Parts: sequence; C-alpha cells; structure tokens
Amino acid sequence: MNYSLQGHDRDNGVQELLISLLPDEPHNRVESLEGEGCLSRAWQADGQICASAEIFRGERHTQTQVCQSAPAEEDPEAAKRVLTYGVKSAVYQALLPLLDRKPPWGSLTGVKPAKPVRLAVREGMDFHQADRWLEEKYDVADSRRRLCLRAAQYALETEDRLLPREMQLYIGIPFCPAKCSYCSFVSNDMAGWGYMVEPYLQALLKEVAVSGRLLGRQAIPLGSVYIGGGTPTILDENQLERLLSTVDSAFDRGNLREYTLEAGRPETITSEKLGIMAAHRVTRISINPQTMNDRVLAGVGRRHTAQDIVDCYQMARRIGGFQINMDLIAGLPGDDEESLFSSVRQVAALEPDNVTIHCLARKRGAPLYFGATGVLAPETLDRCYQYLLDRGYEPYYLYRQKYMAGGLENLGFCRRGTASHYNICMMEELSDVMALGSGGVTKLCAQNGRKIRRVVNPKYPKEYIQRIDAIVQEKALLLDE
Ligand code: SF4
Repeated sequence: MNYSLQGHDRDNGVQELLISLLPDEPHNRVESLEGEGCLSRAWQADGQICASAEIFRGERHTQTQVCQSAPAEEDPEAAKRVLTYGVKSAVYQALLPLLDRKPPWGSLTGVKPAKPVRLAVREGMDFHQADRWLEEKYDVADSRRRLCLRAAQYALETEDRLLPREMQLYIGIPFCPAKCSYCSFVSNDMAGWGYMVEPYLQALLKEVAVSGRLLGRQAIPLGSVYIGGGTPTILDENQLERLLSTVDSAFDRGNLREYTLEAGRPETITSEKLGIMAAHRVTRISINPQTMNDRVLAGVGRRHTAQDIVDCYQMARRIGGFQINMDLIAGLPGDDEESLFSSVRQVAALEPDNVTIHCLARKRGAPLYFGATGVLAPETLDRCYQYLLDRGYEPYYLYRQKYMAGGLENLGFCRRGTASHYNICMMEELSDVMALGSGGVTKLCAQNGRKIRRVVNPKYPKEYIQRIDAIVQEKALLLDE
C-alpha cells in the first residue's frame, strides 16, 4: 500500500504496522498520495497530540482520528512515544474495517511482544492490568494476550534469578549441508563454501579463547552457552572436539546453567558427535524436523526424512542426558493444516523437553503457499498449541518477525523446569549477550533492557576470517570500557 505522511516523521511506525497487517503486499512511502493508499497526518493543538488516518482502497474510504494529552514539554521522548502510538493507532483503526479478519496481535508491532509487559509489571502494573492494557490500547486478541503474559511471567522469573553482571554466550557456525529454500539466514552451503569451514573454525577458536580470558579477568559470570547456526553439527568430529575443548578451557563454567548446541539437521549428527557433546557436558540440543511430512521436506530442499529425525532423536536419547528441543515451521510451501497438525502430533509423541513452532518468515511481499487458501489462520496454530498444552507443555518465550505467515508469532514450549535460559535472556534482553563468529551481534543491555548497545561482527565468513585480529582487539576494548 502506498502511504503518505503529513506533519510527522513516524515513517517506521507506519511501515511496521502496514507490514504486520498486510504482509502480502509491498508498502511504499510517497510524497503525495494519488489514488489508493493511506494518508497519515499529525498535529498538536490545545495541549493535545492528534493523529488522523484516511485509507482509500478500491471503492472504499475510511477515516479515523486519535487525540491524546501531550506530555510535559521537558520530556521530548515521552512526546515521541505519544505521537507514535497515536499515528499507529489511527492507521490501525482506519484499516481494520478493510481487513478480511481481525489481526491477532491488533496494532502491537515489534519483535518482542512480552518485553513491554515485563517492563510495565516491573513499574508496578499487575498482570490483570497488563492484560487490559494489551486489549484496550493495542486490541490484542485474548489468545495472544495469554501467550504474551505467560512469556512475560517466565521472563520476570528468569530476571529474578540472574546473577549481577551475568552474561550469555552465543557462538555461530554459519554453514549448512545445503540451503533450505525458505532460509532467510546467512548460511553457506557445503558445496560452495565447505573449503572455508576449517579456516573459519581457526578464527573462531581465537575469538573464543580471547573472550574467555576477558570474562575471566573481569569475573563476569557466564549463565549459558548457545552454539547455533547454520548447523553447528556440520563440523566433523575432530573440529567439534576442538571447538568444545576450547570453550571448556576458555570459560569458567562455575555459574553455567545451560549449554545448548543446535544439532539441527539429522544428516549431520553421528553417535560420535553426540558422545563428544555429552563428554563436554552440553546440556541441551535441538533436533529440527521443521515438518514431519516427507513430501514437504523434499520440496524445501531438506535432504532427510521424518524417519531420520525419529532415529536421530532416539540415538540422542540413548547417548546423552540432553534436554531436547525440536523446531517446527508453520506455513512451509506445500504444507497444509492437517499436515502441520500431524507434524505436531508426531513430534509430541517423541516427548521432547521443548517444542518450538515458528511461522514462516517470507522474503518481502512473497506469497504464502500454505494449504488450499494460502492463509495461515490463528486457529490453525491455536489447535497445535492446545495439543501441546494438553500434553503438559507451556508457552515460555515468543517473538515475531517481519513478513511472518499470518502476522502470527514464533512460540517456544517447554515442559516444567526445562525453559531455555538463553532463549529467554536473549529474547527479552535481560542480560548482556556476547556473540562470537560471523554475523554475531553482541548486545550490551542497560536500564533493564531499555537501552541496548550492539556490536556486530562481519556478516560473511570470508570477511570474518580476514578481520579476526581486529575483531578480537575490538572485543577486548569493549569489555574494558
Ligand atoms: S538448516 Fe537452518 S540455517 Fe541452514 S539453510 Fe536450513 S533454515 Fe537456513
């Protein structure tokens, strides 16, 4: 949808909302609106900040206006927040009558829906008030408010357990056996990039060793380690052993609550690698079917079957005392409602400790090829969620992305006592996260996660390898500040 702004500069807010409500179409800002689109205006008068929106779509025309009291002049940040809320709220209300269905997350945008709830509760709101706030201010559906409040509760409990200055560690291995057709990460397939794995590992081991020394020197407690990707189990046995030994000798594990390694694709997992992980006291692994439908797996370029997942899962249960997470994706091309539900049933039958259901994040404006209608309805996911709830799983963390199928969410479930510490800390920005490897984003959180400083490693392995000495020096400076 084309949109034009008058009297304000809340471009991001309008764009985010349009993407969330109309994920299947492109949205472009235009100087002056001619024909179809959205005209968003804002102005200040009589101590009020007002915003209006007009939408022209086909034969239809809608219009709304929202006015709120302006905050005190000495608080320009608060004035910006009021303006952003007013602008988005006016656009949302004008667009609502033109939508096929009410959006499950209402006008709430942003990647971390539970974070504002956690912050509001910390400032004195109770959960009942937070529930009403989400409903009245953002029109969030009852089903999504419940998820959000549960995730906020897990985040608050986790935050209460954090040690002073506790940090989490992420290590990235950005290589995969072959690229899945839907992948939006930087992952390098082995056919084209396999020759780079060893030099990448050597650079990474340097960064691991230096980072461990830095944390040790400052006595910063390490709460969790997460080795993700890509597919970390693409490393051969010797490489995996070297990585895990270096982590062991670099970091003090005295405060470590959790150590996760993503063993995402079954064709990369061997009993020997699982044995190495167990020997290095990895506590949690992730085996990710994405779907248990072999036809859909083949269609998205995964070279394994559902049976391979079951075999791999059983081997992992035999070898280590790992907690096991399994990822599924809703909205995969060629999948449909019944097949998704069947995948959830098959995964739950294995009794993993955690199940995560992601909604497909598409490339900008790309169509969804799910089921007969190309629509992923909230009810389809709710049925899957209910199935897991009935089997003792609880939702514990959630996040959203741009262009998600159905404008829905990614939701992690856990059995009691198995919530991933790393996932909650990282997603809710509860503590600093040091990220190693290419594309790693180190986040230093201040003021309860309200202020985040980001330090980003080079995105691609080649540049990372070339710049490793400078990267290591920058890390040293960062922690010394
Ligand atoms: S396994 Fe994951 S990271 Fe690798 S290509 Fe597939 S979706 Fe991307």
